[in-house]
Amino acid sequence: MSEEVILVTGVSGYIGAHVAKQLLEAGHKVRGTVRSLENEAKIAPLKNLAPNSKFPLELVAADLTKDDGWEKAVEGCSGVMHVASPFPDITSKAVTEEELLEPAREGTLRVLKAVAATKGAVKRVVLTSSFASVFGESTPDPSKKYNEEDWTDPESTTLDPYTKSKVVAEKAAWEYIKELSDEDKFELSVINPTLVMGPPLLETHRTSTSVSLMTGIVNKTYPGVPRVQFPVCDVRDVARAHVKALTLPEAANNRHIIATDSCWYRDIAISVAKEFRPQGYSIATAQLPYALCWLAGLFNRPMRNNILPRIGKTINVDNKRMVEVLGVEPTAIDCTFHDMVYAMVDLGIAKKAKKYKMVGSHADTPAVNGEVEEENKEGKKEEEEEKEEKEKNELEPEDKEKKEDEEIKEGKEEEEKKKEEKKKEEEEEKKEEEEK
Ligand code: NAP
Repeated sequence: MSEEVILVTGVSGYIGAHVAKQLLEAGHKVRGTVRSLENEAKIAPLKNLAPNSKFPLELVAADLTKDDGWEKAVEGCSGVMHVASPFPDITSKAVTEEELLEPAREGTLRVLKAVAATKGAVKRVVLTSSFASVFGESTPDPSKKYNEEDWTDPESTTLDPYTKSKVVAEKAAWEYIKELSDEDKFELSVINPTLVMGPPLLETHRTSTSVSLMTGIVNKTYPGVPRVQFPVCDVRDVARAHVKALTLPEAANNRHIIATDSCWYRDIAISVAKEFRPQGYSIATAQLPYALCWLAGLFNRPMRNNILPRIGKTINVDNKRMVEVLGVEPTAIDCTFHDMVYAMVDLGIAKKAKKYKMVGSHADTPAVNGEVEEENKEGKKEEEEEKEEKEKNELEPEDKEKKEDEEIKEGKEEEEKKKEEKKKEEEEEKKEEEEK
């Protein structure tokens, strides 16, 4: 299959770039779609995704909102990874259904129609859907483990526009292939990633929703984090899953949830803090009280619609098909978060703190992001810096509790030890007396 072309739609995106990189490194010929070939800032770095690959990445222009370009894009391909979808930064921007539904649903159908027109030359399409189309409501059932049998109800009035766009697009894809004539038939395999984290490959990924979320933690945009839980996965595992789903017979006509584990937002912040506080980063790990989130929700629609209804709710997700069918073992969760921040510093997306050690960095020299350097140039008073340093190193309430627990445990052990010694002494005295 390696000499045949694989199309990756949305190759400029956070996930699309990883998929293309893994395909190129595995020796495939890869063609990627971008919306415009004129945007040099986005195009140039893409050409360097896999510098040692056998074939260079080919780029073509196609927009999900237009018919032009899709038939040409799939020409000569044996497989298609349809990753592209409008995915605005829902953590900071309120989006409307009109902005998302048409490109997601009609755009997916445009790609599938172009594939059907190849009359069997394209054998399989791997569609990047989302866990949002498995469960997209605001109140998960804590006693349930969500799996590929579950579906978000697209008619539910509580769905945010992005969730709706994903479920509507995935449903449209399954319905479309059911109606195909034998002559036009191809296989469909769907990937349903949970919240994707892990290293971005390009500086342009700074605007991707996943990367923006981590930027908020690293730049301490907020004084703390809301008490919400998400199932999380690693972007490299998502790409691996796409590559496996392209050829594995068992993956055809199935959905695959990609998840490492469910994770409280605060766990992400604590994991990042453990690795990066000693390197000079100030990470907020405090839990924002509900009342504060509610107040913020009055002015901020994403907080009101996406965060508030999920506060305190746990969610369980089944990753059996990911592991057992696709053979993708989840990356350790700390590794996902740490590699993500290291890559963000290397690429200049996150600031480079003075004490940045590059211990986990993959770059020879990380990009220098002016912010921290300029702060120093302005001549911050030493006292101020020391004060900040002290604050950074201060333990958060949970860490304090842990420390106290450890101290109590140590104290108890010491007490037990003394008791043992006393008991031993008494026994020996008793023995001596008996001997006398
Ligand atoms: P991303 O970085 O924002 O990438 C989105 C990609 O889609 C970009 O390449 C973008 O091209 C392309 N695109 C957007 N609108 C388009 C249009 N009208 N026509 C053609 N291309 C268009 O987002 P991502 O995180 O990589 O997401 C990729 C896919 O994974 C999406 O389908 C998303 O729903 C799904 N997903 C993501 C996550 C996550 O946590 N990140 C979780 C589950 C599922 P431009 O560069 O031209 O904008």
